[in-house]
Amino acid sequence: MSRPQIAHLDMDTFFVSVERVLDPRLLGRPVVIGADPRGRGVLCATSYEARKFGVHAAMPVAWARHRLPPETAWLRPTPEAYSAYSTAIHELLRQDLPAVHQTSIDEFDLDLSGCETLLGDLHDYGQRIQKTVRKEFGLPSTFGLSTNRLVSKIAVGTAKPYGSIEIPAGHEASFLAPLPVERLPGVGKTTRKRLLELGIHTVGDLAACSLQTLQTALGSNGILLNERARGIDRAPRPDAFSPRRRSSISRDVTLPRDSEDPTLLRTHLSQLVESGCQELRTLRCTARTITVRIRYSDFITRSRSSTRASTDIDLEIFDTSRTLLENLIDRRVRIRLIGIRLSNLQSRDEGLLDFQDSWSCWKRVLHATDRITQRHGPRTVRFGRSLIGESRPDPCDLFSPPKRSPQ
Ligand SMILES: [Mg+2]
Repeated sequence: MSRPQIAHLDMDTFFVSVERVLDPRLLGRPVVIGADPRGRGVLCATSYEARKFGVHAAMPVAWARHRLPPETAWLRPTPEAYSAYSTAIHELLRQDLPAVHQTSIDEFDLDLSGCETLLGDLHDYGQRIQKTVRKEFGLPSTFGLSTNRLVSKIAVGTAKPYGSIEIPAGHEASFLAPLPVERLPGVGKTTRKRLLELGIHTVGDLAACSLQTLQTALGSNGILLNERARGIDRAPRPDAFSPRRRSSISRDVTLPRDSEDPTLLRTHLSQLVESGCQELRTLRCTARTITVRIRYSDFITRSRSSTRASTDIDLEIFDTSRTLLENLIDRRVRIRLIGIRLSNLQSRDEGLLDFQDSWSCWKRVLHATDRITQRHGPRTVRFGRSLIGESRPDPCDLFSPPKRSPQ
């Protein structure tokens, strides 16, 4: 059996690139996308021209405002456009390939194992995909190929933007060795600090460190990270013939003013749940894990999760989220941001059978309200609890920023 060949395709500055397709006057200018520039939200995307000024996704707009030049274009997100382009790219990839696994709105894993006869040289094939996506949609991307997803994804990070890279079989560890250790998934701020204390700066240092030292310092995670540092990926290969599937749906909002008013916090939470559940149902998915995140006014951030029977019903998710929020608040400090994350997603067919259960009436109501909001715009029909209090956040603020790219 031939060895696995797993490619990773990641769109470059996806949100900014879509905005530039829609308005070519943005080409060549610093572009930032996010909350109201006069408000307190955060950026959700930045162009490379803007990053030269030290701004990045997830940075508060107030900080970015002082760094960016006057010619910067400040845009509000247009999530519908990003979703539409994402779906179109996914459909294009699936025309050629059976095993396409979408891992985020702008990232795709492609299992090309055994496809050389059909597709020719796989690196050349990847470059042809990049050209096709650029020609069809005007969107740039970076392509990486190796024997596993972990290495391909990290390789893409080193080849951005507009690049392509192949790591031949047997060269995974030597490719990773000189990279800073935080390039490995699973190395966050805390782990990085622990590793630096051990004198581990690069992935190669981590690969060379004894398992006993790592286990003492980091427990079983130390063993896992050592494997990753040697280019070993234990994660299963992308599902062949998998349907389009997101791994999670996130929403968050920076409050207009820091608050500890429980009614107001619940109102915001309800709005986030409504928005998240609508997307969940649009994707024909249900979620098993619900995570609520808060950030206090001193920027300390806390989160708490609960895994339960899979659902796409606002009321069930709101009840769990409310309990999580109540258990989460353990300080008498005002709250600046609330977020939710719906993960452990299952396609509706496998997760929730449409039996005549106690929720069947609500499902009909939600189906009807989803159709109304799709036709007449978000927030045409609302839950009453989403309207209590003074909260009137901008719909754009409900669109949460992606994780910051390593670039
Ligand atoms: Mg990307």
